Amino acid sequence: VLTGAWSNRPSKQKIRKRQLERLAQLDSNGDIKEGIEGCIGKTPLIKIKSLSEATGCEILAKAEFLNGAGNSPKDRVALSIIETAEEQGLLTPHSGDTIYEGTVGSTGISLAAICRARGYKAHICMPDDMAVEKSDLLLKLGAEVERVRPAPIVDQKQFVNLARTRAAEHTADLSKSGRGLFADQFETEANWRAHFTGTGPEIYDQTSGCLDAFVSGAGTGGTISGVALFLKQRLPHVQVVLADPPGSGLYNRVKFGVMFDSKEREGTRRRQQVDTIVEGIGINRQTRNFEVGRELIDDAIRVNDDQAKAMARWLVKHDGIFVGSSSAVNCVAATKLAKSLGPGHRIVTLLCDSGVRHLSKFWANTESIEDIESDLDLDEVLNP
Ligand code: PMP
Repeated sequence: VLTGAWSNRPSKQKIRKRQLERLAQLDSNGDIKEGIEGCIGKTPLIKIKSLSEATGCEILAKAEFLNGAGNSPKDRVALSIIETAEEQGLLTPHSGDTIYEGTVGSTGISLAAICRARGYKAHICMPDDMAVEKSDLLLKLGAEVERVRPAPIVDQKQFVNLARTRAAEHTADLSKSGRGLFADQFETEANWRAHFTGTGPEIYDQTSGCLDAFVSGAGTGGTISGVALFLKQRLPHVQVVLADPPGSGLYNRVKFGVMFDSKEREGTRRRQQVDTIVEGIGINRQTRNFEVGRELIDDAIRVNDDQAKAMARWLVKHDGIFVGSSSAVNCVAATKLAKSLGPGHRIVTLLCDSGVRHLSKFWANTESIEDIESDLDLDEVLNP
């Protein structure tokens, strides 16, 4: 029998109820997130001071690497694909359903993390020439990973085709538990819609609608199309500019409406990896996600590997920003655009992922930052 102060002690349930009430009050400003899904979106817009000072334009970068599930813009897409499939009754959380995807890495990492949180399995097919950090991370997240030889899209063993086949095999195999779903990031509407409802409106709000241009590379095309579709509807004067790495056909698609000269048949050329160290952007076929916004893309800027590497080092040296290859390409294109527009403009681009994911490839063999200190100037970055 309890006596004295203890006799008035509230029950455990009451204490828990009060704790929850207090938490709800404390979180009135939304600082407590519902799991990793709650950490996706609303990324900061960072003014890149060095590039802004050097060009006289305001160069702003959306820090997509701060998305809190898989640390790239693909968190938005993975969540959108999964939630759409759940709404359509194609997936059920904690049922052991398996999501199959062909990805160069980022989408797979985002899917694998969200799959963990929602009780799905992830099966990822990716080319084997991508930075090893990405497949290592996928394995640590418990995804099944198939690394395949890079191949053109007409080859059935190409990583996207293989993922589609694996999902179909799952469905046909009655001994398999749960259902199999092909995420299909290149073609699904859930991809560009994630940027149309998230990235685009966030850029609009964060700049109060005051911007002159948006610059982005394209892998599936979901980002550039989704953001362009949103921004152009409100701000028709905003220029949308594609940043394209070597070997990609998208530059020609934007500039001339066609991807290849008549000698080449579309889809037979491998992805750009033969020609560039850049991962995640640049492609040699038409995807629904690129085509849905293509006519809204005003211009394209080509960026070579030396420019991308020099820009990545510049950003570390001046701003302490350590990014991967596609972010560096975006920043080169944004800086080139700033130089051609002239001072006084505001340009928004994206920082897609961290350099940590590219240590073994894009960042391999770079000298220490001390060695860089004395020699880097922006004109050399743009014309190495
Ligand atoms: N950056 C990185 C690192 C990526 O992995 C990707 C997509 N594969 C992109 C940019 C391009 O985004 P999107 O697919 O929306 O065109």
